[in-house]
Amino acid sequence: MEAFDYDLFVIGAGSGGVRACRIAASLGARVAVAEERYFGGTCVNVGCVPKKLYSYAAHYFDDFEDSKGFGWDFDNLRFDWGVLKGNKDIEINRLNDIYKSILSSNQVDIFETRARISGPNEVQVDGKTVSAKNILIAVGGWPWTPEFPGSELTISSNDVFAMDQLPAEIVVMGGGYIAVEFASIFSRLGCKTSLIYRGDKLLRGFDEDVRTFITAEIGNHVDLYLEKDIEKITKQDNRLELSLKSGSKLICDSVLAATGRLPLTDDLGLDSVGVELASNGAIKVNEHFQTAEPSIYAVGDVIDRIALTPVALAEGQIVARALFSGDTKAMDYKNIATAVFCHPNIGTVGLSEQEALDADLQIDVYESVFRPMKHTLSGRDEKSMIKLIVDRDSDRVVGFHLVAADAGEIVQGLSVAINCGATKADFDRTIGIHPTLAEEFVTMRTKREAL
Ligand code: NDP
Repeated sequence: MEAFDYDLFVIGAGSGGVRACRIAASLGARVAVAEERYFGGTCVNVGCVPKKLYSYAAHYFDDFEDSKGFGWDFDNLRFDWGVLKGNKDIEINRLNDIYKSILSSNQVDIFETRARISGPNEVQVDGKTVSAKNILIAVGGWPWTPEFPGSELTISSNDVFAMDQLPAEIVVMGGGYIAVEFASIFSRLGCKTSLIYRGDKLLRGFDEDVRTFITAEIGNHVDLYLEKDIEKITKQDNRLELSLKSGSKLICDSVLAATGRLPLTDDLGLDSVGVELASNGAIKVNEHFQTAEPSIYAVGDVIDRIALTPVALAEGQIVARALFSGDTKAMDYKNIATAVFCHPNIGTVGLSEQEALDADLQIDVYESVFRPMKHTLSGRDEKSMIKLIVDRDSDRVVGFHLVAADAGEIVQGLSVAINCGATKADFDRTIGIHPTLAEEFVTMRTKREAL
């Protein structure tokens, strides 16, 4: 028997890495992990968790405004960014400690430093060589900004979480998840917010009707500059001047570049082994998350499949179970529900109308745009949208889209039904809960053909 120091050496203690460590250790493997930055990775430190905390803060503004129509009256409404940031930091530190203690209580050896691979079964860490039968790379990704004159003056989503002061005027560049979420958050926290996006509708990749609808809704609280691009940014005293390629100019205090993320594969020692990379630096893996170097695996954002925390968790778990319990269950990427925490939220699962057509399905579409009951009294000019896509042959609901308050909460439950193969007839025989927004899902009767 070969004598390795560890059965599994994990590089990166984010969502995928920590899950793999915990499962492998619980199956009796000798496990070590190296983490040079923060425990819990992007999600806990500069992603989902602090973003959701800031999103809650932003929703209070809507709630305070809405409450007036319900009889509430108050003076002196004031928001203190310092309090929010301070409390967020305390909570994130608490979560860091929890992640670390999950590892130590599972007898995982922790190296709080950078690790570099130096051979198929070898890692350099803490000035020494450590051997491992298997290596798992779970180092995640990092914000990426295109280069243009003045691009160094932009901040990234990472920087937002370290910001001690809320800018009075901010410009968000990009039209993806991070751009729309932060545009909503900043505008509700009192910043004058503009968003510059090169496309004609936000959120490329989402259902076209959802994109049209959310672009209009976000346009109600954010100044949208669509089909526009930044040519250069220059510093003017303490402010920034943006020159757009169209010739117009904008002045603001801060520019958030939310233009995507790249896998963090630099300086990992990958040139010493046979691991292959895609052109964007993502690690290529097979269906078992194995790289071209058979003893080295990779999961999470670094493989650039679906950059979502629950996906990385599932991938890490699959690798650990395959290695240490012989479980050959493959990852199923179908029907992964997702939410975008802009105002209003988007929740979606399954196919967009276009994806259904591209898959040669004969579909019926049920769609409804309505004013939520709450806004009859709040007076808010915000609508909700629901869309169901049904495969005519099987009657199965294959796509499900909601733009509404708490859409993620609603769609998570409905994604179970979709994964169980629920048909439109199943939806129709389900009795609604009245009065709720989600009851619309079981009362949709008017269909149209695909466009
Ligand atoms: P996205 O890929 O979602 O969006 C990047 C945006 O930047 C797109 O609108 C893109 O435009 C634009 N862009 C890219 N390159 C340029 C350029 N050169 N000039 C101008 N604009 C450009 O990335 P995000 O960083 O927003 O998010 C990364 C991933 O993180 C997401 O895909 C998602 O998987 C995950 N995430 C999930 C969240 C959630 O679950 N709620 C929240 C936040 C992130 P175009 O569309 O034209 O390509």
